[in-house]
Amino acid sequence: MTETPHDLVGIGAGPFNLALAALLDGESKLRARFFERKAVFEWHPGMLLPEAKLQTSCLKDLVTAVAPTSPHSFLAYLVAHGRFYQHLAADFASIDRREFADYLRWVAERLPQVSFGQPVREVTLCSEGFRVHLDATSVSARQLSVATGCAPVLPDWAAQLPRERAYHNSEYLLRTLPTDVHRVAVVGGGQSSAEVILDLLGKTHSKLSEILWLSNRTNFAPLDETPFTNELFTPAWVETFHALPENERNHLLALQHLAGDGISPQTLRELYQVLYRRHHFDAQGARAHLLPGRDVFSVEPSGRQFRLFARNRLTGVCEQQHVDALILCTGYRSALPACLAPIAEHIARDSHGRPQVDAHFQARWTGPGTGRLYLQNLSTHNHGIAEPQLSLMAWRAGVIANAVLGEPRFPTTATPELVHWGEPASEQVLRPSANRAVSYK
Ligand SMILES: Cc1cc2nc3c(=O)[nH]c(=O)nc-3n(C[C@H](O)[C@H](O)[C@H](O)COP(=O)(O)OP(=O)(O)OC[C@H]3O[C@@H](n4cnc5c(N)ncnc54)[C@H](O)[C@@H]3O)c2cc1C
Repeated sequence: MTETPHDLVGIGAGPFNLALAALLDGESKLRARFFERKAVFEWHPGMLLPEAKLQTSCLKDLVTAVAPTSPHSFLAYLVAHGRFYQHLAADFASIDRREFADYLRWVAERLPQVSFGQPVREVTLCSEGFRVHLDATSVSARQLSVATGCAPVLPDWAAQLPRERAYHNSEYLLRTLPTDVHRVAVVGGGQSSAEVILDLLGKTHSKLSEILWLSNRTNFAPLDETPFTNELFTPAWVETFHALPENERNHLLALQHLAGDGISPQTLRELYQVLYRRHHFDAQGARAHLLPGRDVFSVEPSGRQFRLFARNRLTGVCEQQHVDALILCTGYRSALPACLAPIAEHIARDSHGRPQVDAHFQARWTGPGTGRLYLQNLSTHNHGIAEPQLSLMAWRAGVIANAVLGEPRFPTTATPELVHWGEPASEQVLRPSANRAVSYK
């Protein structure tokens, strides 16, 4: 008996593929499966701190932007849990990440097409498109949606350090600092580092007495959450950005870095207030040393301690610190997952070797066959700073779902622009003509 190929297979069931699975739920004619390697749904468990806030509106959930009546919305979750009125009464400026993670888990567990404990080992080509190899079996698929997330990044100088005392923040809640740690260094200047510092400052019963916060940024810089910056997290901007030449896109990404990668103003304010109280009133608890503008370039084990060397960007002086442990908030990197290695040569690359991804999130394919490969969170260079964020996940899933279904089922057309990124909407375009000299000074 010949196997019927799947119309779509998803690799990974984090928020981005869950959004796609949620939109396609109930499409009885579509054969879709999503494979997740973890045994149960989890959303960055190592950083699910009790007080951590979502940096996006909870309306930017898995579905609402393109399917507001879907049963998989955040509002449906609140109603199903009898929490609707209390949630409104609580009047959160931003909701807890814990609650959003629970919402994501709730949706994941309701979607029969999502299978957990199923790592995809390898993808190869076959006559139907792709063959997806799992541990015990393999399935074929005409289309693939890859959303396997980002991997934690450790600096080169941290590669050989003992993991029980020097680890990435993605493991923060999954590990316990050894009990003899008095002095800890937190390295990094993004949201995760601020959340770790806040949490360490709250550990008033531990032996921890000093917390060093080193960042290579010249200050503890805020995430820009103002309205015109938020325009960069809209379909209209993504479309404009995607159409730009590669060098222009690279230039803009560097300029817009802090719009997606700073510390939320709410966290900065809370942190400053805790530091103020600790400095002026609290006799108990660890002291924090804030060290911005420090490039850590070497860390050497020294007995049970570390000697940490950093160059001060303001003074140029090389500073040395002794610490008992290091928490490395040194970011995440997206890359094609290892399971795509057998087909990776068929994905067209840009001049930096990054996958070229079209406006419908389809990888430009140079290989044989008719299979279509969608890549999520692998094309910030093509789609802009919203790509790794939750903000547009429902819209992007809608774009992919429309392509998979072969019809515009979800409303994904960009709404009329408030800001005219491209050509002005009026007749004020100055065009050089043969009989008019135009000078652009
Ligand atoms: C701590 C933290 C907090 C964040 N908070 C926000 C926020 O508040 N707002 C915001 O907009 N963005 C936030 N982000 C950014 C972004 O929203 C998240 O990283 C989001 O989880 C990305 O979703 P994803 O589905 O691409 O990846 P992931 O959530 O990483 O999910 C990918 C999944 O793929 C699975 N997988 C990988 N390889 C395989 C394989 N071979 N086979 C099967 N399964 C596989 C993994 O197990 C994983 O479950 C945050 C990021 C972090 C790290």
